[in-house]
Amino acid sequence: MSHLLFSSISASENCIKVLIVGAGPCGLAVAKALQNNNIYPDIIEKDENIRSDGAGIAIPANGTWALDKLGIDISSKSYLIHSMQFTDDQGEILAQEKIDDIHPEGAQFYSLTRDKLVEQLLSHLDKRIQIQTSTTIKHFAEENDLVRVEFSNGDIKYYDLVVGCDGVHSCIRRQVQPNELPEYLGLLVWRTVIDSLDGVSMPTYMLGSDRLVMLYPMLNNQIYVYGHIFQSEKSLPSESFSKLFLSFGGLVPKTMHAIDQQNLNFYIHHMEKSHSVRFKLDGFSRVLLVGDAAHAFGPMLQNGAAQAFEDAYVIQDLLKEQMDSHSVISFVNTFEKRRFARVQNIFTMSNAKIQAISDPQLIQGRNEAIKKSGAPNVIGFKLIMQQNP
Ligand SMILES: Cc1cc2nc3c(=O)[nH]c(=O)nc-3n(C[C@H](O)[C@H](O)[C@H](O)COP(=O)(O)OP(=O)(O)OC[C@H]3O[C@@H](n4cnc5c(N)ncnc54)[C@H](O)[C@@H]3O)c2cc1C
Repeated sequence: MSHLLFSSISASENCIKVLIVGAGPCGLAVAKALQNNNIYPDIIEKDENIRSDGAGIAIPANGTWALDKLGIDISSKSYLIHSMQFTDDQGEILAQEKIDDIHPEGAQFYSLTRDKLVEQLLSHLDKRIQIQTSTTIKHFAEENDLVRVEFSNGDIKYYDLVVGCDGVHSCIRRQVQPNELPEYLGLLVWRTVIDSLDGVSMPTYMLGSDRLVMLYPMLNNQIYVYGHIFQSEKSLPSESFSKLFLSFGGLVPKTMHAIDQQNLNFYIHHMEKSHSVRFKLDGFSRVLLVGDAAHAFGPMLQNGAAQAFEDAYVIQDLLKEQMDSHSVISFVNTFEKRRFARVQNIFTMSNAKIQAISDPQLIQGRNEAIKKSGAPNVIGFKLIMQQNP
């Protein structure tokens, strides 16, 4: 990755100058979308390195469809998922579903480590795209048909378009919409990756009364382990992960044993969603929010990164028309019109579904309903796949 890290921000080489704020999955995919249209944006990233929190990620077929359109193929670094299952907390199967035929154009569902995903995205970027790390924005404003950006290092530059890809705690969004703070989804989450564990042949969601364990196979026998506990108020874990999930049967005791033996650390956090879906900022016409900055939501439909990749694909598609500084404003408006309804729908569905399977007040009859109607996320996947972005 190091060849992409330069020490100063340079001008883009196309007729419009673009700044991307944030080099997460979204920022990197948007950079590729621009590059595919001969626009070489500046990117800034607040962290010292291009970050990956180390755990795994699932990219459903609509996400790999969008990546494919961007010219990014993750298949050789990923585990191909054919089926998935929901069980009770003792491992008794409630529903098992085939998911390799749900995308109308044959796109597939993959899992991989977040490190590999970021590596793959970075590897597709041209050297003309510069990522300046340890840099953020102090202030931005629109002046004379440009966005004036003051960076944390004191530099001041002007852009035709600024794309905010700075995640759920977006500073771009906060500067203009300070009341739209992220909201807690009521879930305390643990994530880690086990280096080697046999017996997990497909993604397995194990449902307890107020907690859930998910085991996701990845390449080389690695397993992405995810667990959450419903907590209406934010608080720190009262016990270790193994103690909190001690009553689980099935594959969980073996998983705990591997976690102990490999002395693994967990990424622990309180899950948040965006206040609302927002692509444009009040009073701004040349700033576009995408990815989690525009729409962070619960991971039930595993569509956070997938929606960021769809955002990038739509940017690429709209940029096929020749762009100049004046057309940036209609580009931002058209993007919002094209994306809003689909993203709002996925935002609402994802948040509702994760609470419906986790909140003790909502789960009565849950297991019977899954036995009868099938896995709730697969129902959602099928709805999402019906339409391209
Ligand atoms: C527990 C959990 C599980 C998930 N599982 C899945 C899954 O299986 N599949 C899926 O598709 N999605 C999943 N998601 C969602 C997915 O992780 C996010 O949607 C995705 O990471 C969004 O990418 P992003 O680039 O928009 O934001 P981020 O990943 O948050 O990246 C934002 C980047 O911007 C940088 N940044 C932040 N502020 C600034 C600033 N002021 N200046 C400069 N840079 C800045 C950050 O350092 C970071 O590099 C999950 C999320 C969670 C919480």
